[in-house]
Amino acid sequence: MPVSSVSFKPNSSLPVKYWAIWRFIQVLMLVAALAILICLLFYPQVGLLILWNILIPVAPALFVVAPGLWRNICPLASTALLPRHLNLSKEMEMPRQLQSQLQLVAICLLYIIVPLRHLLLNSNGNATLMLLIPTAVTAIVLGFIYNWKSGWCASLCPVHPVEKFYGSNAIITFPNAHCTQCAKCSVPCPDSTPNIHPAAVKKTVYNRLSALLTIGGLPGFIWGWFQVPDYTGVITLSHVIDVYKLPFAGLAVTFTIYSILKEYWGKKSERMLISIFAATAVSTYYWYRIPILFGFGQFGHDGLLVNLTNIVPAWAIGAITVITTIFFFSVLVLRKVNHKSWLIRPDYETGKL
Ligand code: SF4
Repeated sequence: MPVSSVSFKPNSSLPVKYWAIWRFIQVLMLVAALAILICLLFYPQVGLLILWNILIPVAPALFVVAPGLWRNICPLASTALLPRHLNLSKEMEMPRQLQSQLQLVAICLLYIIVPLRHLLLNSNGNATLMLLIPTAVTAIVLGFIYNWKSGWCASLCPVHPVEKFYGSNAIITFPNAHCTQCAKCSVPCPDSTPNIHPAAVKKTVYNRLSALLTIGGLPGFIWGWFQVPDYTGVITLSHVIDVYKLPFAGLAVTFTIYSILKEYWGKKSERMLISIFAATAVSTYYWYRIPILFGFGQFGHDGLLVNLTNIVPAWAIGAITVITTIFFFSVLVLRKVNHKSWLIRPDYETGKL
């Protein structure tokens, strides 16, 4: 393959030296992801700690503040986009109907996979590997078929609905460090559309259902998820029922509340309602996750990062959770809509305008 045909080059809005920095960080993240996979295989406790108790707890706050940063450096995104960067992708256009169907599958996958953390993923390195490897293979296969981010990052990625939900009033915008030119692979482009949110597109029944499930379901699902302990040892049917029961009960409650409120809220201020649900969801996450990380959780050492119970008073941890809640409501609900996108769209490909 001639070197000139490989698209490891900056997009038009990105000076070469910054492009090199982004590429360096992307490679670093890929190496870090590989190191985690190796740890999961040979040192599972280390791999599980880094993945579930360091990286994942940072992600929701990052989606609120700077979702574009994650979109630029996510190792799974870099994997999915490798065929496109190497000019090995068929660059097919993703049909809009199929994309909306995959987005619905994505939010369903999220609700199916996350409870499995209590059942086996949080405590079993091999099980986590068995989740991550097929996920990476799926992402790269879609990258071989569809153009830019339409195959994985804007369609089937189960984290994408959460990015759209939390990232609707992003504070920081970055240049797009993947797409060299915009091929309009996804319309609207989640990266380039100011204040994108899960209900921004309502064209198909799949769009509407995935928006309802994300906005209405996530706050209650998160609450329910934190009421369940991690199970170890033999998995029984009652464990399986336990890990899904409360998350899905919570999902059903907030889904119903949102569905009713949406009818009476008024179309003009729909965005405000979505922001309130987003702030509630992300605040609920940290309300439970911060105490658990530092040893103040209700289920012993489940989800523990470092035990501070002998060093820090419980009220201080409580104060931090109150501050994070105020922060998320300020950013998502009280702050004016800032008309910022996650990333700056590169120039359009010739003939795509
Ligand atoms: S910037 Fe253009 S090519 Fe890149 S993901 Fe968005 S729509 Fe697709």
